Amino acid sequence: MIKVLIKNGTVVDPSQGIVDKIDLLIEGDRIKRLDYEIFEPEAQVIDASGLIVAPGFVDLHVHFRDPGQTYKEDILSGSKCAVAGGFTTVVAMPNTNPPIDSPHVARYVSAQGKCWGLCDVLPAGTITVGRKGEELSDFYALKEAGCVCFTDDGSPVQRTDIMQKALIFSSELGVPIMNHCEDDLLSQGSVTEGYLSALTGLKSRYPEAEETMIARDCVLAYRTGGHLHVQHLTTGFGVELIRFFKEKGVKVTCEVNPYHLLLDEGTMLSEGPLARVNPPLRKKEDVLALREALREGVIDCVATDHAPHAPYEKGLIDSSLPGMIGLQTALPIMLKLVEEEVISLVRMVDLMSCAPAKIIGLEVGTLKEGSPADVVIFDPKKEWVLNEETNFSKSKNTPLWGKPLKGKVIYTLKGGRIVYKENS
Ligand SMILES: [Zn+2]
Repeated sequence: MIKVLIKNGTVVDPSQGIVDKIDLLIEGDRIKRLDYEIFEPEAQVIDASGLIVAPGFVDLHVHFRDPGQTYKEDILSGSKCAVAGGFTTVVAMPNTNPPIDSPHVARYVSAQGKCWGLCDVLPAGTITVGRKGEELSDFYALKEAGCVCFTDDGSPVQRTDIMQKALIFSSELGVPIMNHCEDDLLSQGSVTEGYLSALTGLKSRYPEAEETMIARDCVLAYRTGGHLHVQHLTTGFGVELIRFFKEKGVKVTCEVNPYHLLLDEGTMLSEGPLARVNPPLRKKEDVLALREALREGVIDCVATDHAPHAPYEKGLIDSSLPGMIGLQTALPIMLKLVEEEVISLVRMVDLMSCAPAKIIGLEVGTLKEGSPADVVIFDPKKEWVLNEETNFSKSKNTPLWGKPLKGKVIYTLKGGRIVYKENS
């Protein structure tokens, strides 16, 4: 059996409360042992001096555009991007063409992921047929075909009765219902309501579009006992609502996109359409509230919402498609928050690895002996730039393109195999 020995690194594993300079031995596709000074002459040795060794990151929210829009991304380019960012498991959103509303599309997505063998690409099934918000998908068949959650991401579920039924199924199946919370009637525009909309005259996406739907869905989760997962939370009051319902014992979890922790509405003035995302970049006070909630634990995990688009789809703010690529920039953004002492390094690994794995019930997100050997090894100090040479996505729509970043993945291992190695 192939053995890999990771030596001299600092192991950070929140699942076992470990932050220590210890070695890690992998045998086959599993973690064999964690200990001081492991000696194993047959093993391939990775020298991790000065580096952090952590459980591979898990991203609950990516758009790989496959099938249907592979000019933006496909499962191979998306997987390459994922492992270069340290992610060993990703959940692919179902707004593909055709959407993941039937078992054969779900099987196609996971089979493609397995075929390239870089990271697990787990399909999210749609809540409704065709993501039209009218008729529930066959959750049983989709779960059987490998779907780990259900969402109509990008098309929030507007009908309360549909969301209620979805959450009832969630409690029966033990699978989370994820919602992109924005009321369509209050989110017709492209920027948040406030300084920027007043200055530019651009139509708004109101924060209350998001908050009213969070409140509605939390009430439904409270009544049905279903598991609600709020996608890409952006507002300070949204945090308050989630805290309230969590304290009531409601099964609600939520994610935040690294960009919403870093950038505010003002970024649109310098970056234009590249900074357009739904829900939009909000006010400074919202960014601060999200950071506080991250520290406090009201926010459960970080998810990139990696959303590739072609350059011509990002033309003007008002007409551009929303979204940014984010798999390779997540770690540097999160490390910036560690450097600014918003969160600890342990909390960061928890948010990017252990916590998201737990939300969908995976056995990854830990370096416990016997677990899958999904490991990320990164240099928290290494400076680099996302450009034509370093980017693995087919797209380059991010306001961080060409800007200096700090923190770089050096190795990613999936099931004990090296699937990414930085060439330097
Ligand atoms: Zn979304």
